[in-house]
Amino acid sequence: MENQIRHRLVLIPPPLQGHITPMLQLATILHSKGFSITIAHTHFNSPNPSNHPNFNFLPFFDGLSNTQITSKNFVDIASTLNIKCVSSLKETLVHYITKLANENHGEKIACIIYDGFLSFIDSLAKELKLPSIVFRTTSATNLLTYHVCLQLQSKGYFPLQDSKSRDLVPELDLLRFKDLPLFNLTNQYDFLQSIGKTPSITPLGVIFNTVESLEDSSLNQLQKLYKANLFPIGPLHMIANDANNSSILQENDNCISWLNYNKPRKSVLYVSLGSIASWEEKELTEVACGLVNSRQNFLWVIRPESISDVSAWLESLPEDVKVGVAERGCVVKWAPQSEVLAHKAVGGFWSHCGWNSTLESLCEGVPIICQPSFGDQRVNARLLSHVWKVGLEWCNAIERDEIERVVRRLMVNSEGEMMRQRATELKHEIGIAVRGSSCDALNGLVKYILSLNA
Ligand code: UDP
Repeated sequence: MENQIRHRLVLIPPPLQGHITPMLQLATILHSKGFSITIAHTHFNSPNPSNHPNFNFLPFFDGLSNTQITSKNFVDIASTLNIKCVSSLKETLVHYITKLANENHGEKIACIIYDGFLSFIDSLAKELKLPSIVFRTTSATNLLTYHVCLQLQSKGYFPLQDSKSRDLVPELDLLRFKDLPLFNLTNQYDFLQSIGKTPSITPLGVIFNTVESLEDSSLNQLQKLYKANLFPIGPLHMIANDANNSSILQENDNCISWLNYNKPRKSVLYVSLGSIASWEEKELTEVACGLVNSRQNFLWVIRPESISDVSAWLESLPEDVKVGVAERGCVVKWAPQSEVLAHKAVGGFWSHCGWNSTLESLCEGVPIICQPSFGDQRVNARLLSHVWKVGLEWCNAIERDEIERVVRRLMVNSEGEMMRQRATELKHEIGIAVRGSSCDALNGLVKYILSLNA
């Protein structure tokens, strides 16, 4: 789009780390394709504008509190956001439309790109007569589960008896009922309907942070459901190749020096449960003992919400565990995760299987101990362990002996070595897709956005 006017896109993420990061990556990519970018965001968990000098930022009031957003019930989080943000986002956008017209020579918003978690924006965009595209920050398979659940609901499958939880879900290949993001549908039906809207009222474009070859079956099924253009343009972090930081918490870079210092290739297990899931203090102690007893090196993220004073807690551990942590471990509050996973010393990841973590690990060929906690994490864990075969499904009790065993399975045993080989193959496949299918889908997306304004 050299020498042409830059069309302005307004991108709207919800205030959650796992959603802000891919939205900013998408913004970076679209900026590089010649679009002007405005990020509309809540004050709560606001991204730092100084890290993204090429974008405009448009804050809107939310009235949110930490407790409402750090709940582990993603249906509650989505419901809160879809109520609290409606009127202030509308007011802010109306103002912005006028401001652009008056101050930027009649400039218009070419398209709104909103996170599917904020489903109310679909009708808001229509009300404001703005074209819109939805961006799904979870896997395509996760989105498909919503549609399949709606169909199963109408066939009377829910509420499901616990005894059926290990049965395979019809239409969903290798997923069991217990892997679904919504298991007990009675309270969650409204959410499901809003997020998995019937195709006739969804927007005509859907962007996915995924790779076609990883999820071709789910993408094909979604394509039949939606009369829409699907754009699988991931993994965004690879394509954006963006050094700008989108972390809400301060990253600790000392862990990179720790990895650099005398750590053999593939010898370190990286342990992190992302930005919401956490272990309780009693469990943390079991994890510490299990990690030390496994006799493997480990880099462990313990967020401040898990425990208020990590140093005091480390100090309170039994002497032999304390010594083991000091000898083999590095504990930080927040790590530069993509850099960590790309480090040659890292050979395994113990993860909650958030979609960003899943993609970041796949792109670096790092196999995973999958310990999903809620929502789409269970779907991703199942894909990792049973479809792509680069993950160990692990839902055992958080006890030191169990932990020692599973860590050694991944880091020492031949089972783990086979997964590392398979992960290296997948990394290669993804590298090819970045220059192939994802690149084509991205070019298709740019054309599509331009066609909305032709
Ligand atoms: N992350 C990070 N440092 C950490 C832990 C996590 O930068 O110490 C990033 C990680 O790279 C990923 C995001 O936080 O991009 C977490 O997103 P994910 O979808 O994996 O999980 P969520 O936090 O949404 O549960």
